[in-house]
Amino acid sequence: MILAQKSMAAFTSFSFLRNYAATGRIVAIVRASPRLSSSPTSINFLTPNHSRRYLCRASATHDEEAAAKAAAINADNGAPTIFDKIIAKEIPSTIVYEDDKVLAFKDISPQAPVHVLVIPKFRDGLTQLGKAEQRHGEILGQLLYAARIVAEKEGILDGFRVVINNGPSACQSVYHLHLHVLGGRQMKWPPG
Ligand code: AMP
Repeated sequence: MILAQKSMAAFTSFSFLRNYAATGRIVAIVRASPRLSSSPTSINFLTPNHSRRYLCRASATHDEEAAAKAAAINADNGAPTIFDKIIAKEIPSTIVYEDDKVLAFKDISPQAPVHVLVIPKFRDGLTQLGKAEQRHGEILGQLLYAARIVAEKEGILDGFRVVINNGPSACQSVYHLHLHVLGGRQMKWPPG
């Protein structure tokens, strides 16, 4: 599978997306901020090292990409996000797990039969993973461990995926660090 991936010098976003991939493993993906267009209709010529990092999500539309770029503009102004309202219970959510540091709740727009978001209750500068500092090590570990608890609660411990979208080119839309825990179906590889 890896060799096959490496032999591909170019993908269209489309084909890349359709190949959304298979694994029974636990996989952590960070869609890091890229420099290439992620238009679903454009052809992106990618080196092997770029192939996993430089495309937006499988079904990303121009609108989603534009929204992600717009969201990034206000990423660091300290303004509350929708997740602050969820933490404060000002808007409803389906909570899967909660402790004093971490909240996990079902994604409002699930991309898999199980799709749960795991967030720190105190943002503490973690608008995105790219802002992490050494002092965040403890909460980052707690978030990952909470993802495992969520997977167990949701009955997907045998195969699930943890995703962090980082930045506009990865289509991050909410600037409060969050882990997507996805499962309940066969996941594909490579991801979009
Ligand atoms: P990202 O695009 O990685 O920033 O992920 C943000 C996620 O938050 C998306 O998957 C949204 O569906 C999800 N989301 C946005 N608003 C809500 C909400 N009120 N309740 C649950 N999930 C939400």
